[in-house]
Amino acid sequence: MAKVRTRFAPSPTGYMHIGNLRTALYAYLLTKNMGGDFILRIEDTDQERYVEGAVDLIYRTMKETGLTHDEGPDIGGEYGPYIQSERRNIYKEYAEKLVELGGAYYCFCDKERLDKLKEAQTARKMTPKYDGFCKGLSKEEIEEKIKAGVPYVIRQKIDPHGTTSFEDAIFGKITVENSTLDDNVLLKSDGLPTYNFANVVDDHLMNITHVIRGNEYLSSTPKYNLLYKAFGWDIPTYIHVSPIIKESGKKLSKREGDASYEDFINKGYLKDAIINYIALLGWSPGGEEEVFDMEGLIKNFGIDGISKSPAVFDEKKLSWLNGEYIRKMTIEEFTEKAMPYFKDAVKRDVDFTYLASLLHDRTEKFSDIPEQIDFIDELPEYDISLYTHKKMKTNPENSLESLKNSLPVLEAITDWNAENIHNELFKLIEKLEVKNGLILWPLRVAMSGKAFTPGGAIEIGELLGKEESIKRIKAGIDKLSAN
Ligand code: GLU
Repeated sequence: MAKVRTRFAPSPTGYMHIGNLRTALYAYLLTKNMGGDFILRIEDTDQERYVEGAVDLIYRTMKETGLTHDEGPDIGGEYGPYIQSERRNIYKEYAEKLVELGGAYYCFCDKERLDKLKEAQTARKMTPKYDGFCKGLSKEEIEEKIKAGVPYVIRQKIDPHGTTSFEDAIFGKITVENSTLDDNVLLKSDGLPTYNFANVVDDHLMNITHVIRGNEYLSSTPKYNLLYKAFGWDIPTYIHVSPIIKESGKKLSKREGDASYEDFINKGYLKDAIINYIALLGWSPGGEEEVFDMEGLIKNFGIDGISKSPAVFDEKKLSWLNGEYIRKMTIEEFTEKAMPYFKDAVKRDVDFTYLASLLHDRTEKFSDIPEQIDFIDELPEYDISLYTHKKMKTNPENSLESLKNSLPVLEAITDWNAENIHNELFKLIEKLEVKNGLILWPLRVAMSGKAFTPGGAIEIGELLGKEESIKRIKAGIDKLSAN
């Protein structure tokens, strides 16, 4: 079997849509699973959509996510150039060849005529379609017009009779009536190709064996098949993947900040977790295991696991997966990544290494950190109802009692650290013959003003230091006494 070659063919739009990244990932995984090559091709023939810096963003994202290509504009390869705007002459040559082969024709219709045609068809409730006006021009007529400088396009010539079928690895055999297919423009008047033409020429010339792309191209694929046939070229394996949608059924949207790779990086997700998660969006590894690094993904990936139905993006699951990756980090790695968030949220002088040890196990994503540590600089406003905890059997009354009992014990500690705080508080618990929670819960509330904190009273005590802890406990006593 020929060496497998897949490609990622993004248009430089200025951001990396999650759906595009998934396409790139699947193409990468499939080819690496089968020992093939992964090609990057930049599809920039739509010059109006050109965005400054967009190509660099593509390189950067692929490098960062580990989707290393074997050939591409930045590293070269045998099949270049890999940027479509630099392949202009190739498309022209092949479009002319296709005319000779009878698969395309010159069209000199101007905008005015095409607009009128469209108007008339729409008025008759017909789907707008080119009417073949130029299909019958003679060689002489064509030469004359070209000589006279009349602008032209080259259109695909489709026999309106019969049907066209093709095989998709995911969707199976697809058949369409030729009468529904339009004689689309292949080469525009500016000499650049449309996607409809460029994808076929490039995939053929670059020896692509498996075409993986979004299923928005599924309905145009019969036309591409006719092009391959007209040229007498081998047809690649088509793998069209279903869209990614939200639970609401809506598309991921740039405006709502849930569409691009950068959006999720900015929200504090780790690249490895994002890659792992999007691999699972529309592909199932089969077993129970869901946490895979790139190597694991490559090993397990296959066309069989790709689903036909749209994939639902579940941010909660991404968050859970991200937590799994965070727990796999060493404490040093975690501390380094968390540090900017610590410094942003905490101006007091606390032991950040200790804080990191408290947060490592209970962080799903880094952007959740500020909310978890917002009590450190200043005790937040809180309601005394927080002292009521069913399981701990506490209420404002017995909490006041507990804080009063704990205060002198804590004040007496000279060497303030978690171990000593623990020992002294447990001595008190033993002496009073009460449940731990009755002492520890009120202390946690008084020191943090929150129900959910990294660590309990003992850890918060160590973190805040003696002076601040005592101050907050006294404030708690005042608050409860005023009740
Ligand atoms: N340039 C197309 C896009 O960005 C690529 C489609 C394909 O993979 O062929 O949608």
